[in-house]
Amino acid sequence: MSDAANELVGQWIRPGIRALAAYHVPDATGLVKLDAMENPYHWPRELVDAWLEVLRGVALNRYPDPRSPQLIDTLRRVAGIPAEQSVILGNGSDELIQVIIMALAEPGRVVMSVEPSFVMYRMITGYADMNYVGVPLGEDFALDTPAFLAAMKAHRPAVVFLAYPNNPTGNRFSRPDVEAVIRAAPGLVVLDEAYAPFADDSFLSDLGRYPNLVVMRTVSKQGLAGLRLGYLCGPAAWLSEFDKVRLPYNINVLTQASADFALAHHHVLDEQAAAIRRDRETLARALAGLPGVTPYPSEANFILFRVPAGRGDAVFQGLKEAGVLIKNLSGQGGALTDCLRVTVGRPEENERFLAALGRVVGQ
Ligand SMILES: *Cc1c(COP(=O)(O)O)cnc(C)c1O
Repeated sequence: MSDAANELVGQWIRPGIRALAAYHVPDATGLVKLDAMENPYHWPRELVDAWLEVLRGVALNRYPDPRSPQLIDTLRRVAGIPAEQSVILGNGSDELIQVIIMALAEPGRVVMSVEPSFVMYRMITGYADMNYVGVPLGEDFALDTPAFLAAMKAHRPAVVFLAYPNNPTGNRFSRPDVEAVIRAAPGLVVLDEAYAPFADDSFLSDLGRYPNLVVMRTVSKQGLAGLRLGYLCGPAAWLSEFDKVRLPYNINVLTQASADFALAHHHVLDEQAAAIRRDRETLARALAGLPGVTPYPSEANFILFRVPAGRGDAVFQGLKEAGVLIKNLSGQGGALTDCLRVTVGRPEENERFLAALGRVVGQ
């Protein structure tokens, strides 16, 4: 039976899919979890009670409103989305990446980003059977603008994704470099602002100045990763096409009600983000003080750091044995060899991480 199934799979599942490994999420049971850019804070008790009251009124027997109008209104107000721009929602911004790529997919077309960057750009390009081009970043993970412009000229990408700030490097590219890419791109440019709550700049208010610019955001890193909600903002001409590809009920009733409630109380999330930004600086200074450890500048809620040559895997393993889970990027090779990424946690979690790292690199 399984042989027959395997034979059919070999015949029908595309080779590009068969060659992929499923997205692996490591088990964090019992560990200090600093691997996934989650906000470590909960809500005050009264807020949880008020939220649960809201959920009492949610009609689980009805399909959600396919346009999520109330949530979009709240997002417009809280995020400051320019009034003349359109908004569509995704089940996480991952789904919006998928929607954009599906709408632009055609064999032979190119999706372009930088290397290293967010892995889903490459993955979803593969699902859609399109070609992915990742242009290596330059010194200190800055955008290599001449190389990027040359690659756009050569490959004519249907869409360019730039994470602003970038993941996994944490830095924000220079604004003039990004503007040069937007101006020269033959197709769409998606600025992925997943880390906007922790960054000093945004292109949200630049929407409308370019015919090919859209901005994507998510509430995940802000403290609502469990809800799965991303939003895409930009000209109606693009977004009305993407809206045709979006599944009609992609934002469930619990997410619509809960995100609307949370964003109406955004001061709580804002205070948490401000604390995370402060603790990021404390953490960066402490990392810089450890022998052989080099942190990179970050405008996100994580820090990328380099350890002495050849020690990346051992440091990751040593931390895990000490009860702290971070992200090991060393295996990706290239500029990320011996690089690890730590999410900014609660102060006591950061302390525990630093103490363990100090012991491991001191060995
Ligand atoms: C985490 C992350 C996302 C995914 O966000 P979700 O809304 O949780 O799907 C998108 N882009 C970047 C750059 C990220 O780091």
